[in-house]
Amino acid sequence: MSQADADALLQEVSAYLKSEDVAQIQAALDFSSSAHQGQLRQSGAPYITHPIAVARILTPLHLDAQAITAALLHDVAEDTSIGIEQIAERFGKPVADLVDGLSKLDKLKFETREDAQAENFRKMLMAMARDVRVILIKLADRLHNMRTLDSVSREKSRRIAHETMDIYAPIANRLGLNDVFQELEDLCFKYLHPNRYAVLSKALKVARGNRREVVSKILEAIRARLDGNNIPAEVRGREKHLYGIYRKMQSKSLAFSQVLDIYGFRVLVNDVPSCYLALGALHSLYKPFPGKFKDYIAIPKGNGYQSLHTALFGPFGTPIEVQIRTHEMNRLAESGVASHWLYKTSETQINELHQKTHQWLQNLLESLAQSGDSVEFLEHLKVDLFPDEVYVFSPKGKIYAMPRGATTVDFAYAVHTDIGNRCVATKVNSELVPLRTELHNGDRVEIVTAPHAHPNPAWLGYVVTSKARGEIRHALKSMHLNESSKLGERLLSQAFNSIGQKLNEVDDAHWEKLLKETGAKSRQDIFADIGLGKRLNIVVARQLASISDTVFSDAMGNAVVTIQGTEGMAVQFAKCCRPIPGDPIIGVIKSGQGLVVHTHDCPTLRKGRGSEQWLDVAWDKNITRAFDVSLKLIVANRRGVLAKVASAIAEAESNIENVNFSNEGEYTAIYFTLQVNNRIHLANIMRNLRKISEVVRIIRAKSADK
Ligand code: MN
Repeated sequence: MSQADADALLQEVSAYLKSEDVAQIQAALDFSSSAHQGQLRQSGAPYITHPIAVARILTPLHLDAQAITAALLHDVAEDTSIGIEQIAERFGKPVADLVDGLSKLDKLKFETREDAQAENFRKMLMAMARDVRVILIKLADRLHNMRTLDSVSREKSRRIAHETMDIYAPIANRLGLNDVFQELEDLCFKYLHPNRYAVLSKALKVARGNRREVVSKILEAIRARLDGNNIPAEVRGREKHLYGIYRKMQSKSLAFSQVLDIYGFRVLVNDVPSCYLALGALHSLYKPFPGKFKDYIAIPKGNGYQSLHTALFGPFGTPIEVQIRTHEMNRLAESGVASHWLYKTSETQINELHQKTHQWLQNLLESLAQSGDSVEFLEHLKVDLFPDEVYVFSPKGKIYAMPRGATTVDFAYAVHTDIGNRCVATKVNSELVPLRTELHNGDRVEIVTAPHAHPNPAWLGYVVTSKARGEIRHALKSMHLNESSKLGERLLSQAFNSIGQKLNEVDDAHWEKLLKETGAKSRQDIFADIGLGKRLNIVVARQLASISDTVFSDAMGNAVVTIQGTEGMAVQFAKCCRPIPGDPIIGVIKSGQGLVVHTHDCPTLRKGRGSEQWLDVAWDKNITRAFDVSLKLIVANRRGVLAKVASAIAEAESNIENVNFSNEGEYTAIYFTLQVNNRIHLANIMRNLRKISEVVRIIRAKSADK
């Protein structure tokens, strides 16, 4: 262990932590150093130098003992054989939670380079951290890695610098960690644009040398004036960081000298009245720029920032910007968890999420101001930054913000309506899961689609986004309409065939006339109406073909509609008799429901002869789908009889959909719902069942009771 660094760390924490806290940090130092024993960093330095450096980045922020301990242990769980449980046992659960949170963040990879995606990724990181200390440690970790980037390959250093620029520097900025933010940006600049960095940093060195005289002259004048007015104050020159200068040159197309032209100063005083006294003193020293004075003490910025800002005409007309604030205000504004992001970042839209983060930061500031390390303050550290959203990845690494509670179906519709409508299965983090699975932060979601798949009405039971809900409803409605109109077209076509004419020979004039008479919008609508039973095929055919009623009534006797079983919602198979291919069938058209198919001998049908429109229907020759059929078996009560029955059914290549029992003395009635292709298939199954000696009777049930 590099003893000097370790000693420095202990000294730093002793300055603001209790002795038992310091003892815990000492223990964590020993623990971490023996865990990393023998490991080296890429630079060749002992590995322990890294966690110590990370901890030391955090001490100026006065982070608590738990956070410093976690900083020392942050790579232990990842890189050594020691687990989170051991850390919990030794240093307590809060520390273990912090370390665990850090290793979770390490697993997230930012892959795309789009701005909008970077914003979402930053939110995801913050949301996953759940504890702002995790973010602070992560930032310190990244800062030390950036400081030691010289020892990795050029390609890798560029990638890390890119990621830091896109993700970590903006987070540091938002949390008001000015020093960390500026150093991160300067280091990124160095690795992303080495030449520009070299030129600019050399120029800055020269310029600072040249300016030194002017700066010290102004500093001296300000100090003297404040002194003369008996205002104790600390006065500093304010230097912009290198990348800040570069960005300003780029965005405003300014020359280097123009950017450096404005001289910045900061005056720190002991209390609020002194701020205004100092302001008066400075305005009597140099003339103020009209309209440039801002009082953020009386009216703090939305993020809690407080200061007086003024601009002055310095000696020889040099423009000077001065910020006047108390030490306390400065601590919050510059190094604490305070945030500058609302006014420093160029976000044009402050949406609701930002407002919430901002609200949270404000609460944090308030409790920080009230007491240094109260329990309440620690509670405030553990808030959900974005309680209403989860952030998930697509397989290509694109990030989607979804409302909390959203399922994989919501995600599918968020990606694209077609993906939603065609989705059949879904994988979360490479594992197949049910479609209704709820999404969590950081999930990688993959949707499996099939070309002819359709939305399922059951999805409406669990989707939460209005987009998914709306699209599913829309798709179901148009499916229904589409199926009904296909059936209607066939019904109409068959009505035509039976009178020796053809539907597709009807000319446009007849169609026009029909549409006008009925007020329907299109031929599709007419077909759908027929399919749904709202219009009668014979009536429509007569209108289109203009022949006499008598021809029709004769002809309709021969009209037979074939049923293929693939008509979807337009054709229903009655639950009372469960017709299967081979059964003699009859169709009933019910208004609004379409065609319902019954068997000829269906008892329900016989009872219900009413005003419905009856239709002769027949099975198509090539039916491939399976149909449900109900069987009632009376069996003798003997061991293993159900297993024999089940295997006989399976042998005949049928599936059991449902099974029920009722005990009748020494016999049992078993009610099955089976899937069969047709009557022949059913006959095979029944033959197999009869071979079982325990089976007394087999009845095909024509009622849906059981
Ligand atoms: Mn690390």
